[in-house]
Amino acid sequence: MNPRKVNLILLGPPGAGKGTQAQYLQSKLGVAKLSTGDMLRAAVASGSALGKQVQDIMAKGQLVSDDIMVNLLRERIRQADCQNGFILDGFPRTVAQAEALDVMLSEEKKHIDCVIELKVDDKQLVERIAGRFSCAKCGAGYHDNFKQPKKSGVCDECGATEFSRREDDKAETVSKRLDAYHRQTAPLLPYYQKKGVLKGVDGMADIGDVTRQIDGIIGG
Ligand code: AMP
Repeated sequence: MNPRKVNLILLGPPGAGKGTQAQYLQSKLGVAKLSTGDMLRAAVASGSALGKQVQDIMAKGQLVSDDIMVNLLRERIRQADCQNGFILDGFPRTVAQAEALDVMLSEEKKHIDCVIELKVDDKQLVERIAGRFSCAKCGAGYHDNFKQPKKSGVCDECGATEFSRREDDKAETVSKRLDAYHRQTAPLLPYYQKKGVLKGVDGMADIGDVTRQIDGIIGG
């Protein structure tokens, strides 16, 4: 696989480290990181019509409709920064979305090269999710226990000093999101296995180890 032009999906439950690894892959490969959760949160923050439509659904930890998601993504992958490739984080989340993605990508003359599953232990996910926060300006991800900024209170990536925690990272919403993953998203694993593009990594390892495992897969 040519590591410079690659379309990837990162798959795993909330808190598995998809956002962290997507951030790394984005700078390593020069491809675009497309986090559907970030895109929707930006829409909510901007108060756009889309934001108003999805605000309550997201706060409850439910899934936004497939039509909205596929259209959002189609517009996004047409942009210039996706022409070298992209990493999907948070999409697809159901088999129906995966099927809709396949149709949309073939219409756009693109395809998925590889799906990387971050395998993790559910019990540890709650601790991981409870401790996470991100830069309010550039969105870089951090964690109280596993990844503090190098200089306390200052973002490593952009130097900003404001951080935020996600509304839906509260314990009761997290268990709903985990439940939704097992019911709706885990069936994607056999879907991509059959297509021969699924690769697994141990997502419980240190951040750097997970990165090395992914490098091994994409030929870094
Ligand atoms: P995430 O940041 O990926 O955990 O997404 C946060 C929230 O955004 C989810 O709980 C859903 O409400 C919504 N969302 C993100 N991606 C999708 C998707 N592919 N399909 C439906 N809803 C989504």
